Amino acid sequence: MSLNNSILNLLGIEDRNIKVLNVETTSKNNEQLKVTHASLSYPVARCKNCGFETVVKNGFRKTHLRLASLNGMRYEMILAKQRYYCSNCQTTFGATTDLTKPNQTLTRKLKSQIMLF
Ligand SMILES: [Zn+2]
Repeated sequence: MSLNNSILNLLGIEDRNIKVLNVETTSKNNEQLKVTHASLSYPVARCKNCGFETVVKNGFRKTHLRLASLNGMRYEMILAKQRYYCSNCQTTFGATTDLTKPNQTLTRKLKSQIMLF
């Protein structure tokens, strides 16, 4: 198992389109937290708006996620999501992951953890 997959496994993330770049320990308000820097990208053949094969990769947009905590420590992720641009209909759209629902930063695992308390 690669280091990338080991880290994802530890964090309970199953999306293999996510690549871990590095993990750092930092502190915020006297609380230690682990920040995982990662990117999300995959090939897109067709535009999801018009269906034409005219999609090019168009940079990344960073998003900030809170992950479920391990041993009471806070875990966050800076996830750079791939953006795509369609030259036929001139729309842009972003890579999506099951880790979060669109436009939502609290991850599903964290939600289920909150439900347990
Ligand atoms: Zn299009």
